[in-house]
Amino acid sequence: MQNHKIIVIGAGPAGLISAQILAEKGFKVQVFEQNKASARKFLVAGNGGFNLTHSEEIQTFLEKYESIEIQNIVRNFDNKRVVEWLSKLGITTYVGSSGKIFPTKNFKPIQVLKAWLDYLEKLGVEIYYNHTFLNFDESYVYLKNNTTDLKLNYSKLILAMGGGSWKKTGSDAKWVEYFKSKNIKITPLESANSGYNTQKFLHQLQGQYLKNIKVSFENIEKIGEIVFTKYGIEGSPIYFMNRFTRKQNFPLIINLDLKPNLSEAEILQQLKGSEKISPILKKKIKLSTTALNLLKTLDKESYLDIENLAKTIKKFPIEILSFRPIDEVISTSGGVAFSELTENLELKKFPNIYCAGEMIDWEAPTGGYLLQACFSTGFWVGNSIGKN
Ligand SMILES: Cc1cc2nc3c(=O)[nH]c(=O)nc-3n(C[C@H](O)[C@H](O)[C@H](O)COP(=O)(O)OP(=O)(O)OC[C@H]3O[C@@H](n4cnc5c(N)ncnc54)[C@H](O)[C@@H]3O)c2cc1C
Repeated sequence: MQNHKIIVIGAGPAGLISAQILAEKGFKVQVFEQNKASARKFLVAGNGGFNLTHSEEIQTFLEKYESIEIQNIVRNFDNKRVVEWLSKLGITTYVGSSGKIFPTKNFKPIQVLKAWLDYLEKLGVEIYYNHTFLNFDESYVYLKNNTTDLKLNYSKLILAMGGGSWKKTGSDAKWVEYFKSKNIKITPLESANSGYNTQKFLHQLQGQYLKNIKVSFENIEKIGEIVFTKYGIEGSPIYFMNRFTRKQNFPLIINLDLKPNLSEAEILQQLKGSEKISPILKKKIKLSTTALNLLKTLDKESYLDIENLAKTIKKFPIEILSFRPIDEVISTSGGVAFSELTENLELKKFPNIYCAGEMIDWEAPTGGYLLQACFSTGFWVGNSIGKN
């Protein structure tokens, strides 16, 4: 086993877990990373609530992923196994009120990463920083370290260079061009878990939140919280819709139900027979200030027509114009097409080269599903190589 030279490119969650699995099986593993440190995007994820996976039962969990290939891989190393694996590293977790799984408060993101890196060091995994992957062929991987070019022979090469968002974390997606030059099909990288740009009149609501509303696009619905921004809207139900709006032509209409727990008839009933609309909306129907502000963007005639108003409260149309730019969004869709990969995630055109993590063509909403799929694909690749 020690004769096998296993090289991993990318010290993000996908690369590190594949290195771990192989090192646990006794393989010698070297990881090359272009940054000065490991897993910068993983740490960025930690800034806004570090949800490492989600506690949902497996069937509902898997529905968050579109393709059957990624569903199978996640099922094999699922949310329960992520929790077990973290516990092996000494990281305790808890389930938040939304079902998301976080490390307990005594573990800051940097401590989670440190515990993991310490374990990898004990296993003998070597991590080389400031090494940028340049290219590969059937036998060698080409890297650059400051001014020196390196040509390293490998038995197995794992590529885990991430998606294309937040370039400053190291995931610059330069690998896409190398892959394309080798005729490996790449589904174009696009913004995922992205806000939408909307019409200008909504920008006046910048900074205002709508809680417990239902967002819908065609027959897809999601309840949650959204926030208006200087360019449009953000929030988890918005990110959830990305996958369904991706293949459509913009502009598109998504609808907001501002009062999901009341029917249109119940709202109309409250509005009937009252001279003043705004106090009823506020005191009886209990719409939030932001919802009232949104309704005030209607023209006077539409606002005063109570039948129309009741309908609009249940189905406020928002015209969305486009996604936000790739560099600022949480993740990217697209990547190495599954048709280019064997069941083991090995490149069909280049046996002995494997892909893991966000650089593969899958997408998922926030809520722990992204890191979960990175852990699962890294585990899958490590195990596939380990079995051979
Ligand atoms: C703001 C933000 C918040 C997020 N929050 C969450 C969350 O709460 N929950 C969740 O599940 N997910 C979250 N994510 C997403 C999650 O962090 C990513 O999906 C995950 O880090 C991807 O893992 P990866 O290993 O595939 O790639 P990455 O983490 O991107 O790692 C790839 C590594 O490869 C290196 N690399 C790239 N190119 C080269 C090269 N040419 N040579 C050498 N090295 C290279 C990079 O420097 C990087 O270290 C968040 C992301 C962001 C940006």
